[in-house]
Amino acid sequence: MPNIKDNLTALLTEIPSGVKLIVVSKMQPLMHIQEVYAAGQRRFGENRVGDLVAKQPVLPGDIEWHFIGHLQTNKVKLIAPFIHVIQSVDSLRLLREINKEAMSNDRMIDCMLQLYIATEETKFGLAFSEAKELLSSPGYRDLNNIRIVGVMGMATYTQDVSLVKKEFRMLKEYFRILLAEYFPLNPDFREISMGMSGDYRIAVESGSTMVRIGNAIFKMKNEE
Ligand SMILES: *Cc1c(COP(=O)(O)O)cnc(C)c1O
Repeated sequence: MPNIKDNLTALLTEIPSGVKLIVVSKMQPLMHIQEVYAAGQRRFGENRVGDLVAKQPVLPGDIEWHFIGHLQTNKVKLIAPFIHVIQSVDSLRLLREINKEAMSNDRMIDCMLQLYIATEETKFGLAFSEAKELLSSPGYRDLNNIRIVGVMGMATYTQDVSLVKKEFRMLKEYFRILLAEYFPLNPDFREISMGMSGDYRIAVESGSTMVRIGNAIFKMKNEE
């Protein structure tokens, strides 16, 4: 059994109070999620629509669900009624679909732009130039049922601390430029979601406002 409560407490002691913790519950059984919930945690993240829509109705209604995986446009409607933040927006087409489904549910949906910062080929996300293009396009300006609340990024999976640091600093710089150019008077744009189990310390040092952590909470005792 993982020592969930102790892992969570240790993490919360370490993370500065201004940094939000998203507990990534992907692949975890309900029992484990309920244990984290019972310890007071309310923000959870999932990366697959099928898993999320199976878990959401059977878990407490005051959980804030964050979607953090690649999202296909045809699946947006399944999560639109309840999703708190979609962190992984990587195209205008997806954003328009989210807006449409938000409208049919008579609500606002908070979104983040997933920016590509890693040197690896495999990571999803917008290049910085594409993010600027999206925010400048007329098609973006008509969207009244979404709110862009920040950026999300994943660093290269590597032991090379200086590379990870460089990528996180780049994401913070991208955030700073987008804030100045597109959201100067808009307090909604405020989150830099970066940092996972393996690199959250570096992310926090680099200006993260939100970390997404799974394994460090659900790991077995003595497991790294
Ligand atoms: C799985 C995942 C995480 C959490 O990763 P851990 O290494 O388990 O902490 C964070 N962000 C995204 C986008 C993920 O897919």
